[in-house]
Amino acid sequence: MNHFINNVFTPGASGQRIPVRNKATGAVIDSVPDGDAQDAEAAICAAHAAQSLWAGTLLAQRVKVQHAAADAMRQHADELAKLITLEVGRPLAGSLTEVERSADLLDFYAEEGLRLRGEMPLLNEPDQRVLVTHQPVGVVSIIAPFNFPITLLMLKLGAALVAGCAVVAKPSEDTPLSTLRLAELFAQAGYPSGVFNVVTGYGQTLGQALITHPLVRKVSFTGSVPTGQRIAAQAAGLGKRLTLELGGQCPALVYEDADLDAAIPAMVKHAYSNSGQYCYRINRIYVLEAIYEAFVERFGAGARALTVGDPFDANVQLGPVIGDKILSRAEAHVADALARGAHLVCGGQRLRGGLYDGGCFFPPTALAGCTQRMKVMCEETFAPVVGIMPVATRQQAITLANDSEYGLAAFVFTRDAGAGLRAAEQVEAGSVWVNNIHRSYHMVPFGGMKNSGLGREKGRYAIESYLEPKTIYLGLSG
Ligand code: NAD
Repeated sequence: MNHFINNVFTPGASGQRIPVRNKATGAVIDSVPDGDAQDAEAAICAAHAAQSLWAGTLLAQRVKVQHAAADAMRQHADELAKLITLEVGRPLAGSLTEVERSADLLDFYAEEGLRLRGEMPLLNEPDQRVLVTHQPVGVVSIIAPFNFPITLLMLKLGAALVAGCAVVAKPSEDTPLSTLRLAELFAQAGYPSGVFNVVTGYGQTLGQALITHPLVRKVSFTGSVPTGQRIAAQAAGLGKRLTLELGGQCPALVYEDADLDAAIPAMVKHAYSNSGQYCYRINRIYVLEAIYEAFVERFGAGARALTVGDPFDANVQLGPVIGDKILSRAEAHVADALARGAHLVCGGQRLRGGLYDGGCFFPPTALAGCTQRMKVMCEETFAPVVGIMPVATRQQAITLANDSEYGLAAFVFTRDAGAGLRAAEQVEAGSVWVNNIHRSYHMVPFGGMKNSGLGREKGRYAIESYLEPKTIYLGLSG
């Protein structure tokens, strides 16, 4: 596939290509341009040329096109899901859910766009009025990671488009195909030429050009903390608006009165889904001593029951991880924990033999007897590895949960609703789930405290972040 600029597939300027692999078998399935500054220039100029027309398009029309795009996603859900499974390695059912939920989010943003309002304060001035209106920030560069290529794009794209911004998006070099196909579907659904462009390539080259280009007014980035911090420094220096959704090291607190029958299946699922490759997964678990032994045994049994294998097999729950970068970090975190005195409950080593030799397969891994300075408890693993640590008191669990540079999500399990709410209030995280884990909802904000991010996505919060408030003072003559 090629870049998608001005609603046309366009080869890269340099002619260099990046192979895209089936993550379960290692086979090359396609290639995309290794984009550079020239390609960024072409895409940004296309978006800039479309910007004023798109901003001036009636909101009702923008909403109509957005609903049509959501419908197109649903009609092509199987095809998009298959691409995601090939390029990410996630089991197919999860990929289908990603497409369907992303289409719902697109619809939600469209509806929310219809509720945008300005203001007119009721001043006691006979010849003066003041209006507060909002206008699109302008051309937006979106840079996305590999783990949920469509969802993480849509969190930004749906809000930016309905707000009236033209977009240039760069998917991860590991997972560009589903985004390129999506751009083609969006063009067919009615987005005018130049409104949504996709370019492919590496962060250091193409990504940098998308951040620093003078015509780009906002950078919306999802990815790791170190990359996000570098981008933040650059964007701030250039006066660009910024949304950052960065890494997580999310704690779960399990009090002695927790309903383990409900908590353990939910926690196992949330720790290992997508092979542990998502930002708000459970990374570390603090368990009150009274139930610690029972918890470790039952959590380990749940993790061991998960099947790792071919992501196109309906009986498989975990596919491969994306590649060596994740695999080597998982191995390093396990080795660090074992060297410092943790013990392995399950997993711990790369799977080998048969189909496992085609990709990077790592089993669900749990480490017990962890302490706070082990890497698995303080660095983001982004792999199916979880650390478990006993704690003496509820307050100690909260203190340890907050002893982190991250602040994306947290989870609390207790039958005492008051204690759960208090913990949720005290834990430093953008979202907290009490006694229940499910996907984040579309109508409420999602994002991180501390190093986990800047700004919020979803709900009206996302759309507002693509708008600039403007104050108009109006003197009435006569
Ligand atoms: P990454 O930071 O390596 O890459 C993300 C994107 O940034 C890719 O498209 C990459 O090409 C690009 N990039 C890399 N260096 C760049 C640079 N110098 N300039 C511009 N662009 C650059 O992240 P990843 O490994 O693809 O994804 C995993 C990370 O994303 C994890 O840390 C995870 O927690 C985070 N994440 C956060 C959220 C959230 O909502 N908070 C959601 C998903 C993933």
